[in-house]
Amino acid sequence: MKKTTAVKILSAVFALSFALGAYPAEAARQISLSVSASEGYDLRKTDGEWKYYASDGSINYSYSGLAKNEYGWWYVSSGEIDFSYSGLAKNQYGWFYVKEGKLDLTYNGLADNEYGTWYVKNGKIDTSFTGMAKGNDGWRYVKNGKVDKKYTGMAKNQYGWWYFSNGKIDYSFVGLAKNDYGWWYIQNGTINTKYNGNARNDYGYWVVKNGKVDMSATWKYNYALPTPSVADTSGSWKLLLVNRDYSLPKNYLNSVSLVYVCNSSERLDSRVAPEYEKMYNAAAKDGIYLTPCSGYRSYDLQKRNFENRISSNISYGYSKLNATIEASKVILPPGTSEHNAGLAMDIICVQDSFEYSPQYKWLCAHAQDYGFILRYPKDKQSITKIVFEPWHWRYVGVDAAKAMKNSGQCLEEYLGKA
Ligand SMILES: [Zn+2]
Repeated sequence: MKKTTAVKILSAVFALSFALGAYPAEAARQISLSVSASEGYDLRKTDGEWKYYASDGSINYSYSGLAKNEYGWWYVSSGEIDFSYSGLAKNQYGWFYVKEGKLDLTYNGLADNEYGTWYVKNGKIDTSFTGMAKGNDGWRYVKNGKVDKKYTGMAKNQYGWWYFSNGKIDYSFVGLAKNDYGWWYIQNGTINTKYNGNARNDYGYWVVKNGKVDMSATWKYNYALPTPSVADTSGSWKLLLVNRDYSLPKNYLNSVSLVYVCNSSERLDSRVAPEYEKMYNAAAKDGIYLTPCSGYRSYDLQKRNFENRISSNISYGYSKLNATIEASKVILPPGTSEHNAGLAMDIICVQDSFEYSPQYKWLCAHAQDYGFILRYPKDKQSITKIVFEPWHWRYVGVDAAKAMKNSGQCLEEYLGKA
């Protein structure tokens, strides 16, 4: 009897020292609590088997759950240790991982209970953990210890950042996603740091440099108007949409050369200038002179023009906000004008009376044959967000110009961006 007790105590001391040596402090404390409990153990060996005893001293064959003896915690099913059970089970200290009947404080990974799938660290569900964890069928996003099956967004592991949709790494997603450091170009589940170009998110098109949206590539916008996104320059330059909603990338002109048109002091994109000259020469044969008035304008000139207009409106009694809104109806803010791209020409003058000039009549009849369109028609002001400008003609190429002339669409409509 005495010998048996001594062996039991030695076993308990051994189990405790093992626990202290091998397990983290918190787990060790729980084990020490369990083996030093003065009220005795739930599990007692009876007829060579461990049985679960209720507080009244009888064997409880209906009990299922964790229970302790001097060797630690065990999973009990119908009053006896269930050595076939592996999975999560609960005691007063939390949820633990059980391996073949015994609480396993070496387990790290994911495990299920009736409430979901959980992140287990050193045998215990770790509700302080938020991040990525690997399960049998790949990486999962875990929030406060629980696998979040609906998570969509970015998350990080030791290999880098990943894009999740519905709780799993989404290898099919191509596009922009956001983390605390900015917007990134995602491909094959992770950031493609080799991507350079444009990409779209809900806020519009952006310049992407080495996989990251380059905010410095867009003009700083300080006006009391919705901030435009960056124009998509990945398609045909002829159909570049630059307007109140899409501003030019800051480096747009790096790949564009500007040349003087028709011996004037006005410049256009070198790919547009010869087309303008063809149109000019054709009109001249009809005795109509399409004298260039304003072609390419620098960002700074556009900025001066726009801000002068705001100042002028303020001097007429407008608030700064309303002065800005009114200015934007007649002059596009810097970076959002086709003149900043060298793709449009104001012809002869900037006056409403141009609508009644022979030049306007000629342009309406023939400009499409040379690839030019009336960019801001009278009946499209709600779409173009700019007043009717009979003098402003934009090059889009012959096919698109003819198509728009035939359909009556403005550029926004033609591009499906109205
Ligand atoms: Zn213009």
